[in-house]
Amino acid sequence: MVPLTVNRNYRFRLYPSKSQEIRMLEVLEECRKLYNYFLEEWKKSEKVPHKYDLQAQIPSLVKKYPALEDVHSKTRQYILWQLYSNLKGLRGLKEKGRKVGRLRFKKYGRMKTFTYNQSGFKLIDKGNRYQRIQLSKIGEIPVRAHRKVEGKIKQIFVKRTPSGKWFAILSMETKPEKLGTTGRVIGLDLNIENYLTYSNGEKVEHPHEMLKLEERLRIEHRKLSRKKKGSKNRVKQSSRLARVYERIIDRRRDFLHKLSTYCIENYDLIAVEKLSVKEMMETSYNAKNTVDSSWSTFIQMLSYKAEGAGRTLVKVDPKNTTQNCSRCGNRVYKQIWIRMHKCPSCGLVMDRDHNSAINILNKALLEVGSVRPKLTPVEMRPLLHPMDGACLVKEAGIPMRSVG
Ligand SMILES: [Zn+2]
Repeated sequence: MVPLTVNRNYRFRLYPSKSQEIRMLEVLEECRKLYNYFLEEWKKSEKVPHKYDLQAQIPSLVKKYPALEDVHSKTRQYILWQLYSNLKGLRGLKEKGRKVGRLRFKKYGRMKTFTYNQSGFKLIDKGNRYQRIQLSKIGEIPVRAHRKVEGKIKQIFVKRTPSGKWFAILSMETKPEKLGTTGRVIGLDLNIENYLTYSNGEKVEHPHEMLKLEERLRIEHRKLSRKKKGSKNRVKQSSRLARVYERIIDRRRDFLHKLSTYCIENYDLIAVEKLSVKEMMETSYNAKNTVDSSWSTFIQMLSYKAEGAGRTLVKVDPKNTTQNCSRCGNRVYKQIWIRMHKCPSCGLVMDRDHNSAINILNKALLEVGSVRPKLTPVEMRPLLHPMDGACLVKEAGIPMRSVG
C-alpha cells in the first residue's frame, strides 16, 4: 500500500546577501545563547523541569535581552525542543548501556542550524530554478531549487556548513509517486570487496571518493598544522579543509541517491540484509571502508523511496547467507578472505558475494510469500539459477554473466 502522503526533505542551497548573512549569523548566536540558558536552567533544577515551564520563561527573556526579538518566535521555541530531544537521545543511549557523558554547553560557533516550524517562512516560486525563500526577521533569500516543490512545507531548517555555505532543508508533506510494476525482483549483498553485488551477478564498485580525495585531504591537513594557532590564516585554512570534507560528503550522497533510485525504479522487490554497522565495524578489518560506503544511509534511502513508490523492501536476517549454498542449501564455511563459494555437494562454483545475494533474495521471497501471499505470480517467479546451463567451472577473478 502506498501511503497518501509521504515526508520528504529537500535540500536547497541558499545565496544570502552580505547583510542577510550577518543577520543569520546573529540568529545562530542568539539561538546558541538561548540553548545554553535553558540547559543551565535544566541542570540547576533539582526536579526535571517540564518543557512548557521553560517555554513560559521566553517572553520575559525577550524583554530582558532585546536581541532575542530578532529571532522568530517559532525558532526560539524550537531551541527547547532541540534541547529536550538531545536529552532524550542521551537517555536512550544510557538505557542501552552505552557510556555517555553529560550534555555540554555549546561553544561559540557551534550552533549550526535554526528552524522555522510551521510559520515564518514562504517559498516564492517564480516558476524557474532560481526562487526565493522569505524567512521572517531575515528577508528574501535567493535559493537554487533543483526540483519542483509540490506539497506542503511543514518546516524549514536553515543550516550553515563548516565551510560557510548555507542551505535550507525543506521538510515537506507530499504526494507519493507510485511506479508501475516491473515484474522483477533483486537481492543485494553489501560487501567489502565491492559496494554491492546484485543477485544477477552484477557488481557496483565502491565509490572510492575517500581514496581520491584523501591525498588532497592530507595536504590540506598538513597545511593547517603549519598555521599559527589563532591566526587568520588558520581560520582560512580550516575552511579550505572543511570544503574538501564537504565535497566527499556531497559525492557520497549523490552516489547513494543515484544507486537507490536505480534499484527502486527497476525492481518491485528489493532484498537486503538487516545490518548492524556497529557490529561490522568491530569485526571487520576494513572499518574505514564500511564507514565510507555508508550502507545504513543507503538502506534508509531505499526504505523511504520504496515506501513512496509502492515497492517492497525486505530486510532479511543475515544469518548464514554467506555460508549456505544458493543452489542446494549445503553449508560451506568460508573465512572472510575466501572470495569464491565452492560447494562440495553440488559442485556450484561462484563468486562469494553473488552467492549470498541470491540467498538474500530467496530468503526475502520466502518471507514475503508467507506473510503476503497476494504478491502477483510475476513477482513470485522463482529465481532461475545463475549457473544452470552456464559453464560451471570458472575460477576466481573471472566475472560471470548470469540470468537475472
Ligand atoms: Zn551446493
